[in-house]
Amino acid sequence: MDNALALQDYLSKPRKVLITTHHKPDADALGSSLGLAGYLKKKGHSVQVITPSDYPVFLAWMPGNEEVLAYDKSKATLVNEKVQAADIIFCLDFSALGRIYDMADMVRQAPAKKVMVDHHLEPESFAEFVQWDPSSASTAQLIYKLILELGDRAVIDENIASCLYAGLMTDTGGFRHNNTRHEEFLIASELVAMGANPSRISKLVYETNTLTRLRLMGYVLSEKLVVLDEYKVAYITITEEELKRFGSQTGDTEGLVNYGLSVQGVKMAALIYKRKDDVKLSFRSLGNFSVSEFSRAHFEGGGHKNASGGQTKLSLEETLQKFLNLLPQYKEQLNSLD
Ligand code: 5GP
Ligand code: MN
Repeated sequence: MDNALALQDYLSKPRKVLITTHHKPDADALGSSLGLAGYLKKKGHSVQVITPSDYPVFLAWMPGNEEVLAYDKSKATLVNEKVQAADIIFCLDFSALGRIYDMADMVRQAPAKKVMVDHHLEPESFAEFVQWDPSSASTAQLIYKLILELGDRAVIDENIASCLYAGLMTDTGGFRHNNTRHEEFLIASELVAMGANPSRISKLVYETNTLTRLRLMGYVLSEKLVVLDEYKVAYITITEEELKRFGSQTGDTEGLVNYGLSVQGVKMAALIYKRKDDVKLSFRSLGNFSVSEFSRAHFEGGGHKNASGGQTKLSLEETLQKFLNLLPQYKEQLNSLD
């Protein structure tokens, strides 16, 4: 961070801190938020984490989870009061205010100082303090580096390290994606030295399924996964009725898109499913095909080169049709990848 000293100075007195992250937080979003919250609490600040929506049950083990306020419309007034009263607002794992949905205007207009810590492409500028690095695999490791920059390595305890490790582990896909560099291993190693337990955290995040999630996965893989050899594309659509039929909860669709990409020969995979108010899309790709550009150009989205998302107000059928109609123009590019 360019002005870390100014931030350090501002945090030298107890402050009312609010931490928020993107809609439907994943382990990096929640882990960086709760890791930072744990640190700032130990430094004597009063801290509130507010998520713009609920999040998967397999993240509820994270220390500090019980104090998270998850926004829904019935809590708009309470959340607004907290946003207005904050001295400083940390925005983690997103850099476009649209990603916090109904909270966007509150945060934009709040009198608080704003800090953005993120690794997604094409950030907006709304914060006085910015720690942005798109080459960083996770926001969690940026929080780790920020705490070190603030001179507080020794403050990181087992709970903080565990939250940060979870974010780093998942955003590298378990240290397998091509964003996993030497630095990711070094920081993971440091976090383990500070008390994070890799096998426990991996068990909690990756190997703790509800039966409903497994059944949905089985159904989707056998009935809903479509491969278009001509385009080297795989896609899955899931209707509202199907999600209901399987009793699906928030997070049950997470990771499904990766199965599409794992099919031999596939270069781009999409997961398209109906949510309450819109249709959500998740994209994954291999090599130089940028799904971040693809989702920004066509589905109000963005993210990283090989992992992105977006949404649309079209119906599920219309969304699929739009997606399919786009493929011919990318055919050559998708087929030229090795
Ligand atoms: P996922 O498919 O796992 O939901 O998201 C993949 C990546 O794209 C994540 O880094 C996520 O934060 C980002 N992403 C997902 N949806 C959106 C979106 O609507 N807009 C932007 N800018 N990024 C998104
Ligand atoms: Mn992230």
